[in-house]
Parts: sequence; C-alpha cells; structure tokens
Amino acid sequence: MSKRPSTPIYSSEVYLMACKQFDRAADAISLPEHLRDRVKHPRRAVVVSLPIRRDDGTVALFEGYRVQHNLSTGPAKGGIRFHPDVTLGEVAALAMWMSWKTALVGLPYGGAKGGVIVDPAQLSEAELERLARRYMRELLPFIGPQVDVPAPDVGTNERMMGWMVDTYSDHVGHLAPACITGKPLSLGGSQGRREATGAGVAYLIARYLEDMRVPMAEATVAIQGFGNVGGEAALALVRRGARVVAISDFTGGYFNAGGIDVAKALACVASTRSLAAFDGGEPITNEQLLTLDCTVLVPAALERVITPEIAPRLRCRLLAEAANGPTTFAADRWLEENRPDLEIIPDVLCNAGGVIVSYFEWIQNLENYYWTRDEVLEKLFRQLEQAREAVERQRAKYKFSRRLAAQTLGIQRVADAKAARGLYP
Ligand code: GLU
Repeated sequence: MSKRPSTPIYSSEVYLMACKQFDRAADAISLPEHLRDRVKHPRRAVVVSLPIRRDDGTVALFEGYRVQHNLSTGPAKGGIRFHPDVTLGEVAALAMWMSWKTALVGLPYGGAKGGVIVDPAQLSEAELERLARRYMRELLPFIGPQVDVPAPDVGTNERMMGWMVDTYSDHVGHLAPACITGKPLSLGGSQGRREATGAGVAYLIARYLEDMRVPMAEATVAIQGFGNVGGEAALALVRRGARVVAISDFTGGYFNAGGIDVAKALACVASTRSLAAFDGGEPITNEQLLTLDCTVLVPAALERVITPEIAPRLRCRLLAEAANGPTTFAADRWLEENRPDLEIIPDVLCNAGGVIVSYFEWIQNLENYYWTRDEVLEKLFRQLEQAREAVERQRAKYKFSRRLAAQTLGIQRVADAKAARGLYP
C-alpha cells in the first residue's frame, strides 16, 4: 500500500477505484515503497472558473478542471470531457488511467484529463464555442505541444478542438496544431482519428474472438453508448462481419435480433443528436442491454456501469471495455473469481486506439508531413497488436488477469522512468 493518504480534494468513488486498482497492481509487481506515492498521486491539478456570456446577455459561470497525473514520461496527454456529472475526482481517475494507457501502448507521453461541469446539449453552438475557448484561455500556461496535449472525450468533438487550437494559436501568434489532437482535418487533424478508438476496439474484438475460435459472422454484439466511440465501433464491427443486436444511448436502448441497421442509427444521431427517434429495434432498458445474451458486450459510455449487481448477470463471453473504467473494482474481482470463462479486454488496452492516433496526429503536426488513412490505420493496428502481445506475455508469465497484466505493464513503465530520472534536487 502507498503511505500517503489520498487528498480529500479528489475524493469520489471513481478516484477510489483507480487507487484500489493501482494499489493492487503495485503489490502484484512489488513496486518499491519509495516509488509508490510518486507514481500514484496526480502531479498537479488546475481548477478554473469559466464565465461566459449567454446568448440572452446574462453571464453564466462554469467550473473546469485539468489534472496532469504524470509528466515524467513526456507531455501529458488526455481528453477533455464536457458532462454535468464531471468532478475533480473523476478527472483525476481518468488522468491516472491515461498514464497507464500511454505507457502500456508505448507512447512518449504522460497522462492527463480535463473536464467541465456542463451539459453541452443545454448550450447553443455560440455558447459552446465561448466555453471551449474560455477553457483553453484559462489553461494556456499549462498547455502546449511539449507540456500537455488535450483531445476530445465524452461531450466534446472535433469542432470544439478546432476552437481551442485557434485560441491557443492566437495566443502564441501562429498556427500551433500540435497543442491539441482530434482536430478537424483542415487544421492539421489526422486521417483516421475520428474513427480510431472504435476501429481499435473492433480490431481487438476480432483478435480475441479469433483466439476464442468464434467466427465473426457468428458473433452478436451489444453496445452501450452510441457517441463517437460506440458508433464507430458498431460500424467497424459490422464491416468485419459481426451482427450488432443492441445499442443504447442516454435516451434508452434498442434490440433487434436480426441486426441493428447501424448506418440508420448513426444517421438518426447525426440529425437529432440522440437515438430517441430510432425505430429500428424494440426498446430495451440499459440493464437489459448489459445483461443480454450475446457474444460481445461493449460498454462505450461512462464509468462504473458494471457493478457488483450487474456482474453476476452478465451473459456475454467477451467484455470489451471501450469506455474508461466501466467495471467497478468489486465487480471486476467478482468476475475474476467466478467467471474464468469470460474474456475481458481492459479499458487501457481496448480503447487505446484513440490516443495512439492522437500520437500520430501530433507527430504529423510536428513534422508538417501528413499520412494517408491507410498508413494511419495500418500503424494503429500494428501498435495495438504489439501492446496486446505484451499484455498476453505478462499474463502468461505472472498468471495475472488481463486487466492486472495491462495495468502492471503501464505502471511499471511509469515507475521505471521516475526511478531513472531520480529526485530533484
Ligand atoms: N479521450 C480519449 C481517451 O480516453 C483520447 C485521449 C487522447 O487522444 O489524448 O483515451
């Protein structure tokens, strides 16, 4: 166990969960005591007040965060979340997971995450622009291509990254595309970035189904969450021959045994911003979706949806964690002990496609030399495959669960870098 108690500013279920995972992994690899606290606790956290003018002339104040968990292995890296339930503790947990994720897949980055407490659906386009710009403006001293490179996450998108690049560039006096990834192509975004997370999830599902000797054409898939990640994963899985039988978003879920028409569902979200008007399946609840009898379950929304109550009722054979932290610590331990037949692709591996292509985008920006979509996807799958193989080796060597294998690899790499750097002064 690490000795320093967590500071109460991060206190939340999700932060506690990330800490429990860390403590378990640190014990499993006998991480030296003198390194534990340094590796575990966030390096720094910034809290900002974000006043913006509403369209009606009034002023509204929002609260935003950026937690830089690790800066020892390169610029911090991680998305920005706009969601009404954002807390500093949640952002800290997500930042910690970014540290293990970038280290696991071999990127020269640290880990960070940002968030603003806001429901973006309640703001007009112009208000959203003012909020995105104000967030970047307040964080200017802490952001930059060699310091911290944000990206999209839940509730943010390419367009907002474009406004943030513009705000940053305005400040430094020239276009500085490498300060943000997940940008529009016209501002130096990368081919393949928008679909990268979903494409990576589908690639890994295909690889693990191969190991399980389940042909893609026989696989049924249920996807919880139909934002950028869930939507793109659905599309990529259908292209690979799987049948997506259930999808959901915050308005509810839909089941269709014959296969959901994914293109139609995506068109519905593109024109109405949700699945509420979707008529391509029978309505089901979130709980029914999670406990559906299917080959693959893909939680692609928020944290902590697979709880100790849901875990014993899971009927999938493969759990692909496209979201960050979808399985609680207790549910994970239950599954490890009681469902040895269930394969889990842990979040830090499963959704790493997004940050891998973010890395490619940053390289292209720094070199001012741009790659084709095929090059990007080929390099993405190669890098994911290497990480997957490393996880399988670690798993076999120490008899770890796949999650423990992935987390220990990430944590060990961060710890090695900190040990090598020593302590200053
Ligand atoms: N928000 C994504 C994640 O959780 C992407 C982060 C990035 O590209 O920097 O991995």
